[in-house]
Amino acid sequence: MTPSTSQPPGFQGADAPPEAPAGAGDPAEVPTGAGGPAQAAPGKGAAGQTHGASPAPGPAGGADAAEAAVRAFVRRLPKAELHLHIEGTLEPELLFELAARHGVRLPWATPDECRAARRFRDLQGFLDQYYAALDVLRRREDFRDLAAAFLRRAAADGTRHVEAFFDPQAHLIRGIPFATVVDGLVDGLREGERRYGLSWRLIACFLRDRPVAEAAEVLDLVLGRRDVIAGVGLDSAERDHPGAPFAPLFARARQAGLLTVAHAGEEGPVDSVREALHVLGVQRVDHGVAAAGDPVLVNELRERRVPLTMCPLSNRALGVTPDLGRHPLKRLLEAGVPVTVNSDDPAYFGGYLVDNYVAVWEALDLGREDLVTLARNSLEASLLPADRRRELLEELARVAGDGPGADPVGR
Ligand SMILES: [Zn+2]
Repeated sequence: MTPSTSQPPGFQGADAPPEAPAGAGDPAEVPTGAGGPAQAAPGKGAAGQTHGASPAPGPAGGADAAEAAVRAFVRRLPKAELHLHIEGTLEPELLFELAARHGVRLPWATPDECRAARRFRDLQGFLDQYYAALDVLRRREDFRDLAAAFLRRAAADGTRHVEAFFDPQAHLIRGIPFATVVDGLVDGLREGERRYGLSWRLIACFLRDRPVAEAAEVLDLVLGRRDVIAGVGLDSAERDHPGAPFAPLFARARQAGLLTVAHAGEEGPVDSVREALHVLGVQRVDHGVAAAGDPVLVNELRERRVPLTMCPLSNRALGVTPDLGRHPLKRLLEAGVPVTVNSDDPAYFGGYLVDNYVAVWEALDLGREDLVTLARNSLEASLLPADRRRELLEELARVAGDGPGADPVGR
């Protein structure tokens, strides 16, 4: 659909989006989302959007003004990001920098060439590139640089809290010690926390297409780093790789007080979501797109207040929902399921957090209140300490309440 061509009344006078926070380093490195002209490479969507389905920036006009207002509004909403793979934030520029640091030869001549190659048919096609790029992450400072670069971008998006996934096995099998990965990520996250005031948690994911015994060894490592790791998850190729064999590990993690989450219902069927809920016993479901097809399950998600961490641009890029206009996010939201919006692997899927909000606003005809609800859901579904959560919810109410009439996006 086309967004309203009139300036949405609820967004009138929307404050200028927060600039890159002080100390953000080179401002040119801070994406400002699709509204950031400096980031829009010629011939590409803004914000480095690369996949074929990305809309090209349209001509200046009412629709653009409406989108800019929504983008500014979403930036101002205090938000948490709960489905973000830190390795999936590896932008081509940093990939080249790290490759030079280690003398790694890349199959692309330039970052732009690499970006252009980030087009995928399906999840496996993406995973092949994702894992190949990890070869440049070797030393503690590489992981630090990766995490710090991401928090700089998250801060520019108005994200206040991040629960970041990482894939220990993807590094262990390359001979990179667990401590190198964790300490490096924590260095970068703490640096970002100091600079931008963002809080964070780390969630270690088991790779569902690797042996359970290997994941059990990872869990032992994770339990030794409870000081900085708050949860465990399950990711990688879903098709033909059921989650059930990992159930004992999830039970053990929960007994140790860790949050448990799992990817389910992304490329897998609705049974995969049931398995995550009933066999793995997760507290949040990552993606959960397939759940929308089962009214009984939707009811259960609502009744039990199980959050879904949905990632619209990822779903479009990987063909889970090639047409975002058919994405179930709005239906689930209307059904009362605590849906959240997230960016998954933003360096690969054409957009960071605000880009994802704006994409669903446009494709699903969301209103202002829907955007506020999505932000509120993200805070409520997070591991934020109660005091901080209350503060951010109060701030959200203030931002949501300003502007005359709070008209739902002029619709
Ligand atoms: Zn994911």
